[in-house]
Amino acid sequence: MAKLYFKYGAMGSSKSAQALTTKFNYEEKGMSVWLIKPGTDTRDGADIIRSRIGLSQKAQVIQPDDDIIKAYHDAGSYDVIIADEAQFLTPKQIEGLRKLVDEEDLPVLCFGLRTDFLTHFFPGAQRLMELADSITEIKTICECGRKATVNARFDDKGRIITEGDQVVLGGNDRYTAMCHRCWKQRIKEQEAASK
Ligand SMILES: [Zn+2]
Repeated sequence: MAKLYFKYGAMGSSKSAQALTTKFNYEEKGMSVWLIKPGTDTRDGADIIRSRIGLSQKAQVIQPDDDIIKAYHDAGSYDVIIADEAQFLTPKQIEGLRKLVDEEDLPVLCFGLRTDFLTHFFPGAQRLMELADSITEIKTICECGRKATVNARFDDKGRIITEGDQVVLGGNDRYTAMCHRCWKQRIKEQEAASK
C-alpha cells in the first residue's frame, strides 16, 4: 500500500539533498518520479531544486492555484511523487496528494519545514502532520549541540527578527536553525542591549 510521507527538518538539515537522493534511488530501480516544488520559492532558478552540497535537478513548479491532481495527470504517469519545500504547498494541494495516495496507490514523499521563523506551523506542513501515514524528522543541530528546531530569521545586521510575514518573497533575510533555548536567549540579549 502506498503511503503519504512527511520528512521534515529545520533549515540546513539537508532536506533537498535527501529529496534528490531519494529520487535517484527510485530511478535506479527503474521507477519514474514526478519531482515538484511550490512556486512560492523564488530562490535562484524557480524550477530548480538545489541542495547546499551541490546536487540540483529540474522540478515542475506548482503554483498556489494549481489543481495538483490535474497537474499530475497532465504531466503524465509516474510511479512516485517527490515534493521539496512542501510546507509551501497549500492545504488543499496536500489533500490532493493524499487522494493520489489513496485512490491511485501512488507513494508521495514530501520534504519540508515544519514551522516558520516564529515557531508556527506553515499551513501546508500542518495539513501534512494531520494526513501523513509516516512522519520523520531529519535532524540537525544548534551550535550549542542540542537539536535545532527553530528556523531563526536574521536581518542584515545579524539580529534575530521577531515579527513580520511568514513568507517574505525576494527578501535578503538569512535563516539559521537553532534550538529553542538559544533562540530565546539570543532574543533576550538583543532586547537587553537595545535598552
Ligand atoms: Zn542551542
